[in-house]
Amino acid sequence: MRADPAEDATVILGAGYAGLAVWHAVHRRARGAWPVVLVDRHPLHVVRTELYQVDRLAADEGADLAWALPLRELLRDSPDALRTGTVESIDAVRREVVVDGTPLPFRDLAICLGSAPNYYGVPGAEERTFSVYRLSHARKLAQAIRDLESRRAQGGGAPRIVVVGGGTTGVEVAADIATARWSKIVGHDVPSPEVLLVVGRLPFLDGLAVRLRTHARQLLARAAVRLDEGRNVTRVAPDHLELERGDPVGFDLCVWAAGNQPAAVVRTAGLPLGRGGRLVVGPTLEVPDHPGIFALGDVACLVDARTGAPVPATAQAALAEATVAGRNLVARRRGRLLQEFVYRPKGALVEIGLGQASGEVAGLTVWGRSASTAKALVEKGHRLTAPRGGKPPGL
Ligand SMILES: Cc1cc2nc3c(=O)[nH]c(=O)nc-3n(C[C@H](O)[C@H](O)[C@H](O)COP(=O)(O)OP(=O)(O)OC[C@H]3O[C@@H](n4cnc5c(N)ncnc54)[C@H](O)[C@@H]3O)c2cc1C
Repeated sequence: MRADPAEDATVILGAGYAGLAVWHAVHRRARGAWPVVLVDRHPLHVVRTELYQVDRLAADEGADLAWALPLRELLRDSPDALRTGTVESIDAVRREVVVDGTPLPFRDLAICLGSAPNYYGVPGAEERTFSVYRLSHARKLAQAIRDLESRRAQGGGAPRIVVVGGGTTGVEVAADIATARWSKIVGHDVPSPEVLLVVGRLPFLDGLAVRLRTHARQLLARAAVRLDEGRNVTRVAPDHLELERGDPVGFDLCVWAAGNQPAAVVRTAGLPLGRGGRLVVGPTLEVPDHPGIFALGDVACLVDARTGAPVPATAQAALAEATVAGRNLVARRRGRLLQEFVYRPKGALVEIGLGQASGEVAGLTVWGRSASTAKALVEKGHRLTAPRGGKPPGL
């Protein structure tokens, strides 16, 4: 007897870097033999790696398509594979998810729901800060700085903007805000914001090569971004940060870029959780004791089998994992051997304002305009290959 087509489906949750690439990989191999469904709350694939561009967002009100690609176009021959709605729960035992109140059964599942800001329980952080992890949030931030600057057209000193988080996202956002041409954006002569990057106790740009970090510091100094290092935030008050020691830091606007965690729906699915509340997966990206359920991208807690180090939550890693997860979803269904994921980092590129970047590619240090051009090419490569499920050299 043939299975009910709905219950026979491969369901992929999330159409970001991991989910969209997995959908293409499974769809290509399934050749129409079973349904391959892609679920996302938006009908868009957001190019999240570009959401640090607060100045462009502020200048370009309403133009979502500059930061997102319409999913129906990306699914080309199978636009009906898309289910637009919010995933509300995941039941690994009954093998169904609930999307906007409606159960959606699956035979196999890929969980690719990405991540949300992690506030680490710091009082006031969630209520009083802005973030750039979603397009709507980055838009809100851009609008808030625009409003702040517009008010300065009537007088007042430079707005004080604090960015919390000394990783790549915090550095990119701080530099972008500090170097933006706000007078041009708001149409009046206004002072540039004073930007402070609160790095916290983790090292500045932790995990990246020493030469890259040194160069990034020089570029941030040139962009007039000041650094506060070695003390974590303990509370976010309406107009200042309290830190572990020393004086509080006043602000007009605060951005939180201190880390991320999987969305609540993933943390409450009853699946094994590891570091930072991420889903534990084995080397094949399958969730242990749950055959046919895979997790990848920012939701997954994956360890590099060669080094024992965690695989970073990056688009680069998500895209690489998608190739293996797509192959394994089909192999599991066909009773074939699953392949193990091996992480081969290609490097990193951090944009630091003024058309300058700092990075490391294939073991070589790159900086300045050439690094910035390389980053722009990588982003462009993603936009060009996303419709085919291709894998650009993501960095
Ligand atoms: C500003 C910024 C700059 C970055 N720069 C880089 C970089 O240069 N290089 C790099 O490699 N990485 C970079 N990253 C990290 C990178 O963006 C993430 O690691 C990557 O997006 C993870 O891919 P993903 O598929 O796991 O999640 P995402 O790309 O976030 O996709 C998750 C998808 O799930 C959907 N979703 C979530 N919850 C639900 C729900 N409940 N119901 C329905 N749909 C849902 C979302 O709408 C989204 O489409 C950057 C991140 C930020 C914020």
